Amino acid sequence: MKQSKLLIQTLREVPRDADVVSQQLMMRAGMIQKVASGIYSYLPLAFRSIRKFEAIVREELAKDGCQELLMPAVLPAELWQESGRWKFYGDELLRFCDRKAKADLAERRRRGETPDEREFYNFCLGPTHEEVITDIVRKNVRSYKQLPMNLFQVQTKFRDERRPRFGLMRGREFTMKDGYSFHADDACADRGYWAMYNAYNRIFSRLGVKFRPVEADSGAIGGSFTHEFHVLAGSGEDAILSCDACDYTSNIEKTEAPALRAGVNEAPMGLRKDHFCTPGVVGQVEQAAGMKDAEHDGMPITQTSKFFLYRVTFADGSTRLVGAVLRGDHEINPVKVKNLIGAADMELLPLDEAEVFTGAKTGFMGPVGLKDVQMVVDRSLEGGVNFTCGANRTDYHHFGLDPARDLPGCTYADLRMAAENDVCTRCGKGRYQAFRGIEVGQVFKLGIKYSKAMSCTFLDEQGKENPMVMGCYGIGITRTVAAAVEQNYDADGIIWPWPIAPYQVHVVCLDPGSKEVLGVASLIEKDLEDAGFEVLHDDREGLSPGAKFKDADLLGFPLRITVGAKGLKEGMVELRDRRTKQVVKFRPEAAVGEVSVARDRIMQELETAGGR
Ligand code: ATP
Ligand code: MG
Repeated sequence: MKQSKLLIQTLREVPRDADVVSQQLMMRAGMIQKVASGIYSYLPLAFRSIRKFEAIVREELAKDGCQELLMPAVLPAELWQESGRWKFYGDELLRFCDRKAKADLAERRRRGETPDEREFYNFCLGPTHEEVITDIVRKNVRSYKQLPMNLFQVQTKFRDERRPRFGLMRGREFTMKDGYSFHADDACADRGYWAMYNAYNRIFSRLGVKFRPVEADSGAIGGSFTHEFHVLAGSGEDAILSCDACDYTSNIEKTEAPALRAGVNEAPMGLRKDHFCTPGVVGQVEQAAGMKDAEHDGMPITQTSKFFLYRVTFADGSTRLVGAVLRGDHEINPVKVKNLIGAADMELLPLDEAEVFTGAKTGFMGPVGLKDVQMVVDRSLEGGVNFTCGANRTDYHHFGLDPARDLPGCTYADLRMAAENDVCTRCGKGRYQAFRGIEVGQVFKLGIKYSKAMSCTFLDEQGKENPMVMGCYGIGITRTVAAAVEQNYDADGIIWPWPIAPYQVHVVCLDPGSKEVLGVASLIEKDLEDAGFEVLHDDREGLSPGAKFKDADLLGFPLRITVGAKGLKEGMVELRDRRTKQVVKFRPEAAVGEVSVARDRIMQELETAGGR
């Protein structure tokens, strides 16, 4: 491919609204173009990488007998009402009216009514396709003999993200591979789950990026029903903790935190109400330092407690207040609280409401004496005594809190965020190390949630009707390509992993005005293409060598071959490795051999560096 004909415009400057490296580099390299917030066009170079990654995904899924199909992007509300998600999926679901619903709405308005427009929404853009696939399978699969079945698509998704950002990483429109499996029983669904888990490991290994499968939160069901796959990168949105001694790796939302007991060796005292007064001091650490009496010149932070008041909503729409108590130096993990309660939704009680309810300003609210609040207490406080806690009176704290005595009926559980260097709860030996990750894929055992709600059943060997057991498996195709850039770049530009590089070899012709030089460059291009390599030939005229090299580094194809009049005087051209910057000289006829050797070396390095 001749670069003079390629749709591309490189930029020297970092675009103003690009906030992560992959977005900056992909925009500067002319790969993506913003159309609207969170909505991008994939220009030819990006599209090549996307297609290549899709091909890897398809090849690996084919090995497990997965079948590809394609579902629509525009989905009817009815299916979503059937599963119940029409009500529970938040504002990320872009809902709208079609022509007929609009006419109905207009007619009602014409009659002088003021109906709520939202009630007329009868379609949405698919953020995920459990409903549609379940509808397909229930209409087409009847017998256990047809199971298990694994179906997938590679398709455009739309999620009206609250904060679309980071280019392709968190777009509103993006490409996802979403797969769904259907099984006759639980054991088979487990096998299907692990088959996909293994397929994902193969896929991301082939991609040539550093990644980890990570145990993730599966909502209130609990258990090890879901893994996320994360590309490791400092800019990742997710925090991951990984034991340095065993295999336990999990999203911090899920990581089990060891109980760190405090105060257990002291004799319990009575509850001294309003004992400490720290007027106007809100910060936890400052409050602890200011807690002084005859025996204490400030309290150790481990002896203080903090309190969170939530309003939780259950699937049936009912609500309840929940109070969570933690040690002062620990961080709350709301996901753990939500799962413990089994809530469908949970929010911190808005400050003004909380102030009225407890009678105290923030920083001085506490668990003692609150009516109709379900109390949950982090297990680090279990068996501990003599904590301080907010007195529900502004500026004051109680002293002597004994959760067992003062919070009768409370539940103890792991509610805090695990932290780096905590002792691993799995092996008890290692300590957690922290990483940042970009979630590029997720495997999820769904069970019968959708098949039950939507009557997706089959007849078993006895002729009895049962709901199918399901799994779902997603890979963010476009996010993964961006994540690969996020992990592989230097000051000069992108360093594409070979398997998804838009082109593998960049032939840079320094003197395209010279027939001879251009001829040699074109011959190399042809030889390499005939040998199966993908080549972009920079044959553009009127650019300095420096400008061409800058562009080549920015585009970041794994290998660059420089062809110039100077080198050709000695009969030589140059091959440069984008990552190592190593250069070798060779005769133009040897291009295929040299590039093959370099490719083998790069693939070898990739195998040892990728994966774990
Ligand atoms: P996140 O937590 O990042 O919002 P998710 O867990 O909601 O993602 P899933 O429903 O698991 O996403 O979707 C499967 C995959 O689709 C994700 O692993 C991710 O790679 C990709 N993905 C999800 N949301 C986006 C987005 N807004 N832009 C690009 N890719 C996305
Ligand atoms: Mg996910």
